[in-house]
Formats: sequence, structure tokens, C-alpha cells
Amino acid sequence: MKIRVLPQEVFNKISAGEVVDRPYSVVKELVENAIDAEASAISVETEHGGKTFIRVTDNGGGIEREDLSAAYLPHATSKLETAEDLFGVTTLGFRGEAIASIAAVSKMKIVSRTEKGEAYSLACIGGTLGETAPAAGAKGTEVTVEDLFFNTPARLKFLKSDAQEEGDVANMMARFILSRPEIAFSYTANGKLKYRSYGDGLSSALASVYGTGILDDLYELDADKHGVKLHGFIGNQNFSKPNRTYQSLFVNGRYVVNQTVSAALTNAYASYLMKRQYPFYVLFLDVPPEIVDVNVTPNKSDVRFADNQIIYGSVYSVVSSVLDGNSRALEYLAGSVPATKTKPVQEAVPLEKSVSSQPPKVLPSMTYEEAKKELEFDIPPMAGRADLPRRTTIDSSAAFEVNAPTAEAEKPKEDVFEENKQMLLERENAKQQRVDVSSLRFKGELFRTYLFYESGDDAYIVDQHAAHERLIYDRLRAKLANRTIVSQPMLVPFVLTLNAPEFAFLCKQFKILEELGFEVCEFGGNAVKVSAVPSDLMDIDLSAFFGEIVSSMESLRAIKLADLLKDKLASAACKAAVKGGEFLTEEEVTALLARMDGDMGLKCPHGRPVAVHLKKSEMEKLFKRIV
Ligand code: ADP
Ligand code: MG
Repeated sequence: MKIRVLPQEVFNKISAGEVVDRPYSVVKELVENAIDAEASAISVETEHGGKTFIRVTDNGGGIEREDLSAAYLPHATSKLETAEDLFGVTTLGFRGEAIASIAAVSKMKIVSRTEKGEAYSLACIGGTLGETAPAAGAKGTEVTVEDLFFNTPARLKFLKSDAQEEGDVANMMARFILSRPEIAFSYTANGKLKYRSYGDGLSSALASVYGTGILDDLYELDADKHGVKLHGFIGNQNFSKPNRTYQSLFVNGRYVVNQTVSAALTNAYASYLMKRQYPFYVLFLDVPPEIVDVNVTPNKSDVRFADNQIIYGSVYSVVSSVLDGNSRALEYLAGSVPATKTKPVQEAVPLEKSVSSQPPKVLPSMTYEEAKKELEFDIPPMAGRADLPRRTTIDSSAAFEVNAPTAEAEKPKEDVFEENKQMLLERENAKQQRVDVSSLRFKGELFRTYLFYESGDDAYIVDQHAAHERLIYDRLRAKLANRTIVSQPMLVPFVLTLNAPEFAFLCKQFKILEELGFEVCEFGGNAVKVSAVPSDLMDIDLSAFFGEIVSSMESLRAIKLADLLKDKLASAACKAAVKGGEFLTEEEVTALLARMDGDMGLKCPHGRPVAVHLKKSEMEKLFKRIV
């Protein structure tokens, strides 16, 4: 295909900007070019996190001899001709900017050979083009980028450490492997093989990135709702991750981070996952190209949908059906038999395309306006507000889904959002839980564990062990400031396997971990070895401890490792301090409560509630005095 310079008026319509600012963005652009060239095998090598050396080799279509120099020109592309083409972009690149801007700030060389031609090479150093010369090479293209930013020292200074840059490249390679399971990738950093995939399907790609065991914890989706196709894998109800780096979304084959889709997933999982836990997903969303605008940011990491509510609603309803186990889930799970083939006799206007031998062409037969109306009924709002809108008890979507089982359409639907609402409500309540201690009267104790207090129309049940634990913990934590550190070598070192961004993050914490009494080092791949721990922390669960460190990598405030450590020390110590089934005297009971200072929202060090609030009206409901 010919490479031509885009006419000014076309180029002006493209959001332009800096595409190359870090080694990983160079790798990204080069791999995208290889994918656009329809390669079936792509290998990537880096040295020093890509700062000194990046090479991307593919077996794709190659570049003709006379096009080699055009490839280096700004705004030159073979992928776009007119402004109209912008609305149906199917290739990853289209701006014709990447090669030119990389070549301007590095020492770049392209060796390429098309199916019929010979191999030629052309180098460009800091933007100065060399001569096209015959070379040796197989079909495809090999692009080498050395000494990135050698001529722009200011930008060089902004790069992170080699390890961090390498981590970002690795992370992106993982996403390429997942996004293109039909392509065999290999990624080598400093001569060590980091990832290898075989191009034989998504489950194999997942295993390449996350290890073979992962598949046991996932559901495979394959759904088509309102013309929105969603397939891929999501973690089951009990499978969660400590941060968002295990979430990958590909819209029409492109990796994006998108608020709409992420909100839909977060809300679908809301009742299953606890605070600071995040769902695992690798999802592919395919929508008609004309309703998605990929031309939002120069680095193309987000997309804009013509209608967010449609996307949100479709993703939410597919994922929540599967998690909640509702009968429609069968339609959305890969490999499961569709719920029923028989259609209701009275067939309403078929809004979903009825069975035809040919797969329907992407566009939904329901208009977006119609679908939107339906979804307004069915789906909780995108922002997690406590006052969820009232919804009709009849599931409006069941009415026109011709494949929906009749039984389900007849019986009034249970409110699948009940749990979510409950959770939001509880969260609200937790805010105002401090009660005046003097108003509380002790009413007795059950099972040597639960203490009952009354105050007007409110009752509080306090778990004495949880409360006790919390108080001891607070005291210990305060005392810990002046501990002496003794490092204790472990008989069997503890090895922690992480993903690339987690690894890069933890490596940054090594120094402070060592100051605290740990001995830690890199252990090949993305693994970290712990070979000594502070002696007063011999008993803690190391995988939980490091899990917590890693989970804080995304929180807004920087992690205070020392604080986390104090938490751990205190909870380890207080476990030993609290005895079970102890009988408390009435004085002790009062003292306990006074020390809690009436805070009924307290949690024990392990996160369990210390007190539960019960209203008189709730008691009356239990006994059916009121409904
Ligand atoms: P864009 O990808 O936006 O078109 P680039 O600057 O990344 O712009 O690439 C310019 C052109 O060089 C592409 O349009 C393509 O024709 C050619 N090209 C770049 N990399 C490759 C490759 N690996 N295989 C084949 N052609 C390539
Ligand atoms: Mg490109």
C-alpha cells in the first residue's frame, strides 16, 4: 500500500500532539504498526527499559523500497486518505506521526521486505535521513530505535528508572498479548524472555500472561446485547485483585481505559467485592465503528461513545446477569446453550434480530433511542449515588427479548439491585454512628460474646472480642513508634510473583522495606524474594502483607509503609492479647463502652464491625407488628 502525506485539511481534523514521551510509547507505536501490517508473529526486545535499545520485528506486509523514506515523513500514512475515512478507522495507526516523531529524537533504522521485493534498510539519526540501501532480511519489518532522546536531554531527564520503564513496557506487552490472541508475541528485556504467547486463542494468551491456573477462577463471556458485542473473561464472584492493573478493556481491538465501561463493571461487582478489591477482567467490546470516536487523545488511550448510557447499560446487564446467576446469564456465557429456542407465540416486534443463517451485521435492529429508553428503567445510574432511582418491578427488557424464557417474564422479578442499595445505605449510616455514651443502658449479654445496649428507639449489639481487640490494637499501635529493629532470616524464603506494574512499584519500596527490617530482592521475571523479616513480625501472613502494599499503589496518597507495618505489628500483637469467651463484669462492660467513646462505627483490626445497630422498627418488622 502506498504511503502518502495527508493533505493539510485532513490532518487538521486529527487531534495531534506528542505521541512519544516514554520508551513504552515507542514500543506501543511500533507494535501497532506491526499489527496494522497484519503480522502473525511480533517480537520485541529492549535494553535498559528501552532507553538505549528497542527492536520490534514482525512478519507482516513490509514496506516497498520507494516508500521507506515516506514512512519517516510527518503526517505520512498508508492508512487514511480523506477526512471521511476518519469515521471508519479500523487500523490502530492513522495519524502518520509516530515514525517521524520517534526518528526525530533517536537513532532509528528500518529494515523491511515485502512479499515480492528484496530487503532494504534506511536509517535516520535525530531526524537526518540516511540512504536507502539493500539489506538482508526476511519478509516483514524490523525497526530498531537506539538512544532515545539522545538529542533532547531535557526529555531524557523525565524518564523513570530502567526498572520502571521496563515494567511499563512489560505491562503493555501483556495487553498486546491479550488484545491480539491470534498473534504470537515474544518480549525480551535485557536478554531475558519475559513473555511468550503462541497466537492460538484467548485462553492460551491469558495463560501466557497470568499463568495457567487463572482460568479456573474466570467466567468466559460471549454476549451480544443491543448491537454491543462483549466477549472475554471476568473473575468470578470470589476472585478479586488488590488493584486495577488486572483490568483490560479493548474497544474494537484497541486497549482503552474508559470510565463508562469501568463504572458498569464496578457497579455490577459492587455487592461481591469488598473495599479496595477490584474485579479481574479481560474484555473485548465491539461496537459499530461509527458510534465510537477513537480520535479523542493523541495517545489514543480513551474512546468516546455516541451514547454512554447504551454502553453502560449493556455491559452492566450482561456482567451482573452472569454474576447474579440470573437465567439470562446462559445467553451471555460462552459455550452454554441459549436458554430456549422456542419463541413466544405472540411475537412482539423483534427488537433483537431473530435467527438468521448469517451473523447480523453489527448494527442493532433496535434504534439507540429505543434501547436507551429501555435501559433507563433497567440499570442503576452510573455514579454510585445512594438514592437509586425507583424502578418498575417488571423487568422491561424481558418483555421484548424474544429468547427470554416465558417463566421468567411472568413471575415478578426480584430486585436484583437490592444488595447494592443495601450496601450504599450502610455506607451512609456508618458516617453518623457516634452515640452519646451516657444515653446507653446495658441490657445483658448473649453467648458470652454479644453485649446489648439500648438508647431510646435504638439498640446496639457490641461484639466484645472485636471491641477488645480494637482497643488493645489502638494502644499497641501508639506504643510502636520506638521499636528496635531485629532482622530475622527465614529458613525458606518467600517468593512473590507479581505483574509488571506491581513489580515496578514494589521495587521502589525496597529501600524502606529494608529500613524496616525486611530483606528483599528481585528474583527473575516479575518475582520478588523475601529472605528476612523483622523479628517481631515472624508470624504475619506475608502474602497478605505484600498484597496490601501492592494494593496501595493506586491510592491517591502515597503509601506510608511504616504505617502499614505498625498496623501489622499491632494486629499480630493483639491477636495474642485477647482471650476468647471471656466473661466481662458489668463494670468492665461499661469501661469498654466508655473507651470506645460511643463510636459504633468502629471496626476491629481485621475489618469486622465492632457494633451492629438495630432500630426498634426493625425489631417490629421481625415480629410482623409492622410491615
Ligand atoms: P501511521 O501508523 O499512523 O500510518 P506511522 O508513522 O506509524 O503512521 O507509520 C507510517 C507508515 O509507515 C504507515 O502508514 C505504514 O505504511 C508504514 N509502516 C510503519 N511500520 C510498518 C510495519 N511494521 N510494517 C509495514 N508498514 C509499516
Ligand atoms: Mg503507526
